[in-house]
Amino acid sequence: MRRRKRAKRVSDFLRRQYGIGWKDISAKLRSRLLEDMETVPCNLCGETSSIEVARKDKFGLALTTVVCTNCGLLYLNPRPTAASYRSFYEGGGTGDSVYHRRIDFDHVEDLLKTYYGDDFAMDAEAKAALATYRETIEASNPEVQQEKLEVAEAKKETGISLVRMDYYARHIYDLLKDHVPRGGRVFEPGASWGKMLMPWKVLHDCEVSGVEPKAEAVRVAKERLGIELFQGFADDPSLPADACDLVINTRTINHMLDPLGDLRHAWRWLKDGGILFVDIQDAIKEAGYEGFERNVVEIDHPYMFSLNTLTAMVQKAGFEIVERDIAELQSVRDWDDRPPEYKQIRIIARKSGDPVAVDWPDPLRELAALVGSELAYDERLEAKCAALRSRNAEWKTRYAELKSRNRAPQHEQGDQTPVPAAIAKLKARLSTAK
Ligand SMILES: [Zn+2]
Repeated sequence: MRRRKRAKRVSDFLRRQYGIGWKDISAKLRSRLLEDMETVPCNLCGETSSIEVARKDKFGLALTTVVCTNCGLLYLNPRPTAASYRSFYEGGGTGDSVYHRRIDFDHVEDLLKTYYGDDFAMDAEAKAALATYRETIEASNPEVQQEKLEVAEAKKETGISLVRMDYYARHIYDLLKDHVPRGGRVFEPGASWGKMLMPWKVLHDCEVSGVEPKAEAVRVAKERLGIELFQGFADDPSLPADACDLVINTRTINHMLDPLGDLRHAWRWLKDGGILFVDIQDAIKEAGYEGFERNVVEIDHPYMFSLNTLTAMVQKAGFEIVERDIAELQSVRDWDDRPPEYKQIRIIARKSGDPVAVDWPDPLRELAALVGSELAYDERLEAKCAALRSRNAEWKTRYAELKSRNRAPQHEQGDQTPVPAAIAKLKARLSTAK
């Protein structure tokens, strides 16, 4: 089952049984971040003047998002302090995800503890309800089988399990491999347990490493994948300088408190001419699919980027743009048939020894693009509702049809003689035929 769908079903169960959904749990988990806040200037241009564009995040937490009136960067202001985020990231998380709670049927009780406190335990009735719900969902869902098949296929194809090299890591490898010498050195800040580094190690003979704050992830990377990560933060001066051929910054830059500073660290780690790869969802594009306040703004993301603002930041950190685009990523998984959503920024850039000219975004255009996306989202939502309404009507008609068909005789009523009598009749006919 798709992770998102699975989360939705777990959420459905929680809502039925306890009257709370996973968004409530996520909000609770994050609410302590609001206790310690600070005001910051724009990380891209340093200005402080801004316009408010949202007043809460996707979990419903009271947070203000602003757009910088000088460069168009979107950011939370005020935002939780570094100390606050640090304890959140170091403390949180389960399994292969550093801080997200795992939302599946095996972890329902853990989720509830997050919400109600460590003393909470599910009673027998709730456990039985969960087991029944789970059985019904899984039995009726061919995707469960499909998922097992995918894992098996992945093992066959790569010789390593899906756990060790996931599809996205392979996709990024294919995208970048021509830019990086075989046997080179690859570094990833925020490496989690190192799965993005695996293809470089296995398929490109690279020396791979990274930095990761969570001790548990560092241990798992070493034990499971044989990858040594530095435990700590990217500003540690003992990390290698002028040594790397590629720095991968994937799906993390919106979590950073000083993203420009982080790109400058990458600049320091890279050899002259070395390659930087950054990807992150484009907040403005994403708003068109999900709604900005409704699903994009998130307390975990102090900065939100568009292709323009991220490009400017990469340039300001001393990189020349090699390639950049907005990708749709469903095609990464060739079994994924959801309609395409073009919302992932991908930038490939090269470290420059000379200062690089910055293409400064026009803040008014950024703001206009955000408003445009919100309008597009409203239209999509309206279309979705209309589709649901018409589907509902169609189902009503179909149901009525079925019902009326069931009332009428299905076929001509034949001989109503009970079976033994029928057999006796047949026997009699056979004996007459003799
Ligand atoms: Zn700015």
